[in-house]
Amino acid sequence: MKAYIDKKKCASDNRICKPLKDCPKNAISWVQDNDEPIGSRMEVDHGKCDGCGICITLCCGQCIEVR
Ligand code: SF4
Ligand code: SF4
Repeated sequence: MKAYIDKKKCASDNRICKPLKDCPKNAISWVQDNDEPIGSRMEVDHGKCDGCGICITLCCGQCIEVR
């Protein structure tokens, strides 16, 4: 099981993102990406993510699922 972020719902704001700060595996990062409409995206490192699901409840935009 790994976490997936729905980019269409995600605000991609590294100043407020609790999953980014509180993921116990440090698996989430903020990536600058000029191909994205808002210029950045949140990324999950599936090599680090263990599927614990903590980020689901921390996300302010209900954009994360574990599958
Ligand atoms: S809290 Fe959720 S919606 Fe907000 S930036 Fe983080 S992953 Fe995206
Ligand atoms: S499921 Fe757990 S390990 Fe994976 S990104 Fe979310 S909080 Fe981090």
